[in-house]
Amino acid sequence: MPQPAEGGPTLPQERRLVTEIPGPESSARLARKKSFVADGVGNVLPVFIEAAGGGVLVDVDGNSLIDLGSGIAVVSVGNAAPRVVRRVQEQVAAFTHTCFMVTPYDGYVDVCEQLAELTPGDHAKKSALFNSGAEAVENAVKIARVATGRDAVAVFDHAYHGRTNLTMAMTAKNMPYKNGFGPFAGEVYRAPMSYPFRDGLSGPDAAALAIDVLEKQVGADNLACLAIEPILGEGGFVVPADGFLPALRQWTADKGIVFIADEIQSGFCRTGDWFACDHEGVVPDLVTTAKGIAGGMPLAGVTGRADLMDAVHVGGLGGTYGGNPVACAGALGSIEEMREHNLVSRARAIGDLMRGRLEALQADHPVIGDIRGRGAMMAIELCEPGTTRPDAARAAAVNAACHKAGVVTLTCGTWGNVFRFLPPLSIGDDLLNEGFDVVAEAFAQTA
Ligand SMILES: *Cc1c(COP(=O)(O)O)cnc(C)c1O
Repeated sequence: MPQPAEGGPTLPQERRLVTEIPGPESSARLARKKSFVADGVGNVLPVFIEAAGGGVLVDVDGNSLIDLGSGIAVVSVGNAAPRVVRRVQEQVAAFTHTCFMVTPYDGYVDVCEQLAELTPGDHAKKSALFNSGAEAVENAVKIARVATGRDAVAVFDHAYHGRTNLTMAMTAKNMPYKNGFGPFAGEVYRAPMSYPFRDGLSGPDAAALAIDVLEKQVGADNLACLAIEPILGEGGFVVPADGFLPALRQWTADKGIVFIADEIQSGFCRTGDWFACDHEGVVPDLVTTAKGIAGGMPLAGVTGRADLMDAVHVGGLGGTYGGNPVACAGALGSIEEMREHNLVSRARAIGDLMRGRLEALQADHPVIGDIRGRGAMMAIELCEPGTTRPDAARAAAVNAACHKAGVVTLTCGTWGNVFRFLPPLSIGDDLLNEGFDVVAEAFAQTA
């Protein structure tokens, strides 16, 4: 692992268990949480965290856990990354908020300049900043509707775009994201997603199928935009077959439909490119970003063709906190970490290591039906051996065994049978290998 020029993780980079997981201190706090926090807000692993950095999370009982989740792909640069901390501290001491719509400041414009440079394509680009991924997706749709004068929104099977009313409509999975929360926003239409493990289709054939559904059931002339995750996030880390995204991109360009790449989970070095679209040279009209952008500070963006972004009337985009100066400082620190440590190439190396470990695991455990992903965004799908029948029970058992052994793992997928691995890019090889030793042990224990 490249050594940080400035600071670096100060916590011992080790897995250390001094109590059972969760320990007594965490359990006491969990009881308190139960009294004051709404039950709807769940926890994957109920240990209360006191410090984190590099590749570890340290809990209130003194356990040090290996982090293979990055707070869901957020702290890609590591928790409390030195440049994020320094810039946030400087900004928070200077001023905390003016509201960019009232009186502007440099940090917001600096982040938009970085987004113009880093997102796919070298055309003129502009951005607007928001607080959460869902808010960015909502605003991308608003922009597309104004720019095209059309209403309809195309989305895909297994998509996840957020939990607000419009983005719930765009998200595919009912439980837990939508159940009972309707009625949902209208004019959202779903097309089949390329899913090589399940549909066996080539990229162009899968795209033809999706395009046919949209043309027959919606009509290209009614579509304002098509929103797609270039690699599915919550939906199971499905990498569409080669040629799927380029074919959709071409079709949307031909029909005047705004192509929105939702790179909220896949963006900012995660896949071994700055953005997942870069892998096939796909240049979207609009890109939504959040999660990995700001090292843990809440920030999101919509970036895209200047002519589209400028279609909206003055005052039509904004929000009280969008592009908050402290969050922007976090983003500038985070982008600096990515450049300084060449985290694009670090994500590729982590991906190679993880793929090797997962292939070895698959040889011993035929329940692993598929290994997929790109860079440091890798997953395995668990199915009854030799079939595509989901084995969510095994995924839950393996996940619980990992947690007990001090490794933070996450599941995902429409059937809950996918294990996803999203380590911080600041994790060292030794710790990462130890994490996969624990995963392998969890598979053996639950066989
Ligand atoms: C997490 C996520 C969102 C929603 O982001 P929030 O910040 O939770 O609102 C939207 N799209 C994708 C692809 C995501 O992974």
